[in-house]
Amino acid sequence: MLLYDLELPDIESLLKEWNEPAYRARQIWQGLYQHLYSSPEQFSNIPSALREKLGGEFIFMPFSVKTYRESSDKSTRKTLFQLADGNLVEAVLMRYGDPADDHKTGNIQSVKRKTQTGGQITDYESRITKTRRTLCISTQAGCAMGCVFCATGQMGFKRNLSSGEIVAQVMYYAQMLKVQNETVSNIVFMGMGEPFHNYENVMAAIDRLNAADGFKFGARRITISTVGLAMQIRRFADEQRQVNLAISLHAADDDERLAIMPVNKRYKIEDVIEACKYYIEKTHRRVTFEWALINGVNDTPETAQKLAARLKGLLCHVNAIPLNPTQGYDGEATDRGRAQAFKEALEKAGIPCTIRMRRGIDINAGCGQLAAYAG
Ligand code: SAH
Ligand code: SF4
Repeated sequence: MLLYDLELPDIESLLKEWNEPAYRARQIWQGLYQHLYSSPEQFSNIPSALREKLGGEFIFMPFSVKTYRESSDKSTRKTLFQLADGNLVEAVLMRYGDPADDHKTGNIQSVKRKTQTGGQITDYESRITKTRRTLCISTQAGCAMGCVFCATGQMGFKRNLSSGEIVAQVMYYAQMLKVQNETVSNIVFMGMGEPFHNYENVMAAIDRLNAADGFKFGARRITISTVGLAMQIRRFADEQRQVNLAISLHAADDDERLAIMPVNKRYKIEDVIEACKYYIEKTHRRVTFEWALINGVNDTPETAQKLAARLKGLLCHVNAIPLNPTQGYDGEATDRGRAQAFKEALEKAGIPCTIRMRRGIDINAGCGQLAAYAG
């Protein structure tokens, strides 16, 4: 049994069966999620007999590290994990800025953000630091959604990850960062797989990472990216988590979207946007629409205008990123000039847009490039 699959009450009832005092469960929980222990020997506050039993009964890490690669500028690190059944998944650490800089004045920015309360959009100030340690985590081995431009989609679906297998990817990097006196600042579910196709396990993982007496990772620093499963977007809205939501749209016309994203057979663009409206009404949170800019396919100012018309009135913004190359798709990335024109056309029509930097391309760790066979 994988220890990260368990909630604190699960550990409590197990220890009760073992006739151990109840407080031991909390010690184990805190060892895992506050001290970031990764093996039984590290639990020095627990008697050695119990430590041995823990080691015998539980799996601490559900995978071995098959390979890891670091980008040439050292800012991006991709790890390939081999799960117990041989399946491979990947997770990426992206470093932005140097933590030492945070302590120098001027590197902590005060930014204006928009929020919506009771239909009113207001500005509020929030302080952010430039330093970030963002983890991009996988939720499935492979993916069933088959988006043609995505390496994970090209490999097909293998299986869902358990909540503990998802949590373990975060803990692996948290343990690594701890050695360097650093911590995880953001988690994005943008690795392999479709998070809303593994809904329960992803939410259980988030709740475990969130637990007040455990890892205490704030929901607001977590982002889920979905291909647009409208039913789950509504469910997610009803559950009122503080987690950020990103929707992979990539086309403003149903036929064009269907040509690159088979999911559009099941949920039309309008279904996705209606679900987003519902989400925004329920949560007052801003939605991000992701847009991989593909040369000549979805990157003209006319397409930007179509998109703007679709998104009009929604509390949202568009995150555009030039397509990353994958083996199975011959579409090309939009160049800087065309990307800028797309952004300007969108913004002119009232939809905020940012163009994201491409990261980790030299190690195939960019968006949509995570696939176990890519190495
Ligand atoms: N399954 C989820 C999350 C994983 S993909 C989703 O699709 O949203 C994370 C993001 O990378 C998505 O926005 C996805 O559309 C995008 N993406 C996939 N392949 C890409 C590629 N080759 N270049 C750029 N972005 C890509
Ligand atoms: Fe799956 Fe997301 Fe890739 Fe589409 S883009 S195949 S949903 S991982």
